[in-house]
Amino acid sequence: MKQSLRRLGAVVVRELGDADTRRSAQLAAQSLQANQALLNSIINTAADGIAVVDLDGKVEFANPALSSLVGYATPELHGMQFSELLHTDAASTGFEDALFAPTRGASIDPVNLQTQARTRDGHSIPVEIRASGMTVNDESKFTIVIRDISERTRSAERLWQLTHFDELSGLPNRLLFRQLLEQALLDANRENKPMALLFIDLDRFKLINDTAGHDGGDEVLRQVTARLRQCLRESDLISRFGGDEFAALMRDLDDPEAARAAATRVLDAAARPYHLNGEDYHLSASIGISTYPSDSPDAASLLRNAELAMYRAKDQGKNNFQFHSPQMNARATEYVTLERSLRQAVERNEFIVHYQPQVEVATGRVIGAEALLRWNRPGADMIAPEKFIPLAEETGLIVPIGRKVLQQACTEARCWQDAGMRGFRIAVNLSPRQFAQSELVADVRRIVKECGLAPESLELEITESMVMDNPDRAAAILSELRAVGVQLAIDDFGTGYSSLAYLRRFPVNTIKVDRSFIQDVPANTDDVAITHAIIAMGRSLRLSVVAEGVETPAQANLLRRLGCDLMQGYLISKPVAAAEFGRFLQQHAVWQLQPESVAVKPA
Ligand code: C2E
Ligand code: MG
Ligand code: MG
Repeated sequence: MKQSLRRLGAVVVRELGDADTRRSAQLAAQSLQANQALLNSIINTAADGIAVVDLDGKVEFANPALSSLVGYATPELHGMQFSELLHTDAASTGFEDALFAPTRGASIDPVNLQTQARTRDGHSIPVEIRASGMTVNDESKFTIVIRDISERTRSAERLWQLTHFDELSGLPNRLLFRQLLEQALLDANRENKPMALLFIDLDRFKLINDTAGHDGGDEVLRQVTARLRQCLRESDLISRFGGDEFAALMRDLDDPEAARAAATRVLDAAARPYHLNGEDYHLSASIGISTYPSDSPDAASLLRNAELAMYRAKDQGKNNFQFHSPQMNARATEYVTLERSLRQAVERNEFIVHYQPQVEVATGRVIGAEALLRWNRPGADMIAPEKFIPLAEETGLIVPIGRKVLQQACTEARCWQDAGMRGFRIAVNLSPRQFAQSELVADVRRIVKECGLAPESLELEITESMVMDNPDRAAAILSELRAVGVQLAIDDFGTGYSSLAYLRRFPVNTIKVDRSFIQDVPANTDDVAITHAIIAMGRSLRLSVVAEGVETPAQANLLRRLGCDLMQGYLISKPVAAAEFGRFLQQHAVWQLQPESVAVKPA
């Protein structure tokens, strides 16, 4: 009995015990479920993306926020490489290295980084990522939380924009300009390039504000900004310092002189009328220029010196520019004076044309001449084109001047033809500005017609750089000129691109070997080889080859041996005025190379 009671007791106790254990197990399970539900609810409603990733970087779990951030459905995310959700930038790569590579399996310290997530359709979203390691059932995994920080990034960018840019003009403000200036100085110093800083202040701007109101004033400032952009190169850094003050940093200057040209353009542009509500308003600018490294070695002095120079420009009566450095100022004044005289020279017809004969190398027959411009400035010596053509080019005056040269040269060529030089050909140089001008073809057609010159008696000389700047456009213009019937020559050949490919492409008749190759032949064997190659190439392309700057019989003899077609140079004649050239023609229908000829030395 005792025995059976004990057994029963044991059963009861066991039963009772089991019931307890079950209850507590039940309770535990219920609490686990509740926790799980709570956890799920947290994970599913979390605004941040959450992923659990295994040691190989494969996604085991992803919450809805992650799915909507990257645009993949949750099942698609399962098994995907986590790295596919990131852009392959340096930050992401560093992150993966830190997370997955050497510490595999080891518990890792939490990793934080900012990078770009990559969405299913390839977009980037700035994100902040936190990752930490955990061990579940002896397996290492990573929990990764991804936060979309686009909004924060946008606000930061907006703040940066507000603090570094001028709202009205969209230009960098003084603060950013200063930072970029420091950077540019480092670059300029490393590359050994000069820079110039233009400090631009509008004259009488207050008057516009007073008459056109503040909105009108704002509009004018926007127009000024647009004009500044047009006058300066893309690499120049323009800033609005506030009010009517602007600055421009000219980087990568090959020549500090370019600052003068830019300042002139800015003055011209600022002085053009501003249209506002049907009315025209007028303004001008005063500009101060400092240069690095010549007068200002650092950012502070560049800014200070340019500003000081700007005040001097105001003192000088506004609407002008002043360099900080006295030497540059003197040179700029010289230029301004030269420009004024150049304009007067056009009105007063002070330009004349000189002629230099071109002869057949094999026979000495004079076949024509090159027209070369001279400025016959009263009270001064004859001025050579190199002294004034660059300025005439810059100011656009070369267009009317070039037209006159063409007219005069064609008229005189016709006279020499009439005097018995049948087939006489006149070569006229074109400048880049003339070549770019839309009326060129029409002008040429009209002028040869008016002068009664057969178009094939005119040869236009262009340089390689003129055609290479815009080969498509150049090819079109050259074809139009060929259609008029004129001949085309490439001048100064060998000094530029000298490419066979483009010679084929452009319809030219003649190449002129640059004087620099001729001057040291026959002594300089490299130059002999180059000249030989150019002549051979010209031959194979059926182009006529002219050698320029022939000064000695030895050069002429070499050219004859090499089979060069034509030559010109001091050996035959310097460029001379029309009357003298007429006399030359009478004496030398055929020019004789005298074995004992003495070279005429350049003046
Ligand atoms: P270019 O067209 O290459 O002209 C040849 C230059 O070489 C001329 O200089 C000529 O006087 C010079 N020259 C000729 N033979 C010799 C020689 O034996 N020895 C030396 N040392 N020099 C010689 P110039 O007349 O001073 O003209 C210089 C440049 O100015 C010309 O080079 C041409 O590019 C430009 N130019 C001249 N006239 C005009 C023009 O009417 N319009 C344009 N756009 N440019 C012109
Ligand atoms: Mg020429
Ligand atoms: Mg030349």
